Amino acid sequence: MEIRIKGLTRDYSSGGKGIRALDHIDLTIPANRIFTLLGPSGCGKTTLLRCIVGLESPDSGEIAIGDDVVFSRERNIFVPPEKRGLGMVFQTYAIWPHMTVFDNVAYPLKSRKVPMEEIRTRVARFLDFVQLTGFENRPSTKLSGGQQQRVALARALVAEPKVILFDEPLSNLDAKLREETRKELRSFLTRLKITAVYVTHDRVEALALSDRIAVMRAGGIIEVGDPKKIYFRSDSRFVADFIGRANLIKGKVVALEGAHGIIDTDIGAIAGLNNQNIAPGRNAMLCVRPEFIRLTTSGVTEGRNVFRGKVETLLFIGEAYEGEIRIGDTRITTTVPPTVDAVEGGDIQISFDADHCFLLPA
Ligand code: ATP
Repeated sequence: MEIRIKGLTRDYSSGGKGIRALDHIDLTIPANRIFTLLGPSGCGKTTLLRCIVGLESPDSGEIAIGDDVVFSRERNIFVPPEKRGLGMVFQTYAIWPHMTVFDNVAYPLKSRKVPMEEIRTRVARFLDFVQLTGFENRPSTKLSGGQQQRVALARALVAEPKVILFDEPLSNLDAKLREETRKELRSFLTRLKITAVYVTHDRVEALALSDRIAVMRAGGIIEVGDPKKIYFRSDSRFVADFIGRANLIKGKVVALEGAHGIIDTDIGAIAGLNNQNIAPGRNAMLCVRPEFIRLTTSGVTEGRNVFRGKVETLLFIGEAYEGEIRIGDTRITTTVPPTVDAVEGGDIQISFDADHCFLLPA
């Protein structure tokens, strides 16, 4: 079910000071996809989620879920949370410690007075779905963090909501379990074909899990797109920088060549995709991600986007080194595979394709 948000504003006051947590948000969340709200702490993600659920009453705007307007300040509509047909999974799994797995999952159905026979069938179906068949009588405290999170998911799903909302549901899990649960969750949600709205400040989680991402900053939506668009061709400097490691090199566009722009920078001319049609004469930034930079210590190649510098630092990070290369006064961060014979202080040549970097407005 699609969610449409128009002109949503939410103001708080704290210690006599006004805080605009949401600033005229317009957003369409597509049906049956995993949609993530991503942004730094305090940007308004949780507030937006709480407005959709009905735990907050916005100061202006409108929210529609499918064909139903669930909130409109102008028309004085406020549908209470329990009537919005939503399921929710929180960071602290919020499953009841004194109940068994079965009772936890059955709870939303019992409170709606669904007949016991039907409860058994539906609980069994969703425990099977989250791969917890056989755990029915286990006290919910005697489960691992990942299993508890799956109980929370089954409990949110058992009432067959139109939309399911997640607020940082994996942040209490350790790194390895978080990765596994993330994969599992993506596969569960994709199979269910349900509209999922997911809040996180973790960019890797957002990239791995989502069909679409909305990047937020200071109460506003800066950019919406699929993970590859956001990562490889973002429209704003803030998003390019927030979503992953990025070298941002300042300069001025001096020429256009088909889909590419040529930018004159401190290290020389660089060609990059000019997705936003920045005109010659305008200041711009070239964005190139570390993993797209090729390195060699032997041989010299001439050509476009080839530069020579010195290895300033090499930091071992397990699967590779993180290298800082100095070219004049400019420092470039690169991923140095263990197969490259680089040493700190040594000469190195870097190169990257014009199709693997892009221009952004300055
Ligand atoms: P985090 O990732 O840290 O949870 P967030 O992006 O979810 O952050 P919100 O919790 O939505 O951010 O908060 C947005 C802004 O509104 C912040 O400046 C926050 O301090 C403020 N805020 C949130 N709730 C309240 C409240 N009840 N009273 C006053 N200010 C609030």
